[in-house]
Amino acid sequence: MHVPSLIEKKRDGHALTTKEIKSLVEDFVVGDVPDYQMSALTMAIFFKGMTPAETQHLTEAIVDSGWVLKYPEGSPPKIDKHSTGGVGDKVSLVLAPLLACDEVWVPMISDRGLGITGGTLDKLESIPGFNVNLDEKRALKQLEKIGVFMIDETEDICPADKKLYSLRDVTGTVPSQPLIVASIMSKKLAENLDRLVLDVKFGSGAFMKTKQEAEQLATAMKHVGESMKVKTSYLLNPMDQPLGHAVGNALEVAECVEVLQGGGPPDLIKLIVDLAEKVSETPRAQLEKRLRDGSAWKKFVSLVYAQDGDATMLEKLLEQHRAPIIQPWPAKADGTVKKIDAELIGRASVQLGAGRQRTTDPIDFAVGFSKIKKVGEHVDLDEPLFVVHARNERSIVNITPLLERAVEVG
Ligand code: URA
Repeated sequence: MHVPSLIEKKRDGHALTTKEIKSLVEDFVVGDVPDYQMSALTMAIFFKGMTPAETQHLTEAIVDSGWVLKYPEGSPPKIDKHSTGGVGDKVSLVLAPLLACDEVWVPMISDRGLGITGGTLDKLESIPGFNVNLDEKRALKQLEKIGVFMIDETEDICPADKKLYSLRDVTGTVPSQPLIVASIMSKKLAENLDRLVLDVKFGSGAFMKTKQEAEQLATAMKHVGESMKVKTSYLLNPMDQPLGHAVGNALEVAECVEVLQGGGPPDLIKLIVDLAEKVSETPRAQLEKRLRDGSAWKKFVSLVYAQDGDATMLEKLLEQHRAPIIQPWPAKADGTVKKIDAELIGRASVQLGAGRQRTTDPIDFAVGFSKIKKVGEHVDLDEPLFVVHARNERSIVNITPLLERAVEVG
């Protein structure tokens, strides 16, 4: 296979064949297609798109790069959720244990931060000891014991997406419909699910900027899911302001602890319950009760222990990860909050160190934003619109222009 010709073929807007897609993915995984060629190809896909058939073949090639999970005969229904990514989107950390309170299995293969959006795995790793790298045998044992795991892709499960994902993260090739469909659906198909709910975001902090684009993405993912016999549903959700009040890894886990202990921001709770209701057979009132009565919290604590995490630290996470600078950002006038732009807050949080600018960048668990006001709230002059958690003064200076554009009080 002559890779430059395939890049040129896609660059010129032609469809790749199943065989070409399959060998590109196979050769990429073993290192025979180098990152620079794959980056060029993903950029060509970004500009020229893929047909539904190409998208399906890419998804299948990524699933085939590893194994599909196999379950014992007669095991409970397998269900899961995946989000297309947002700012402050910490839903999975609460939703997975909430769903696992039922007689179902939740085999969640999650992702790391991508572009301006945060990732479940990075957030989980802010819990001391939490191990997202379980092998299949251990992961299945955990399902039998507590009904839920939250892990990374492995050498065995979707290795092609793992490599492609980190490449897209740093090459400006994330917001491409076929690449998102193949990335999300390959992970979910490798989980061998019965039911899946997709949280498809649109707005400034999402990869899809309009509701129409989000609907197209959702339909394409549903089509791939259903063609592989997974009952797939979706919700379209706005992402113009961050979800909840916190953005940043440990800060978001702390917010999830609040929700799991019966508190937390109403917008976050509503989204969690909306998604749970869509994929679960349990009535909404019962799902809400499990957040209030500690059942989901207990499940989360067992999940943390099962994956080597120190659950005694969950309520002390913000002491463990305390940024050296914690600085309120005052409103310059009194009035109503008109805008807290999710994209700009997301970019600022990546610059603070909560996300990656290069594939090898370490994550700073402590940095980000807390106490973020919601659009429509009233603020007085000098009242904090949010609190910035930063490693040093320089990083605050760097993000100041972004933050000034991010907020509007009128
Ligand atoms: N989540 C994923 O897993 N992949 C994407 O491409 C976007 C969001």
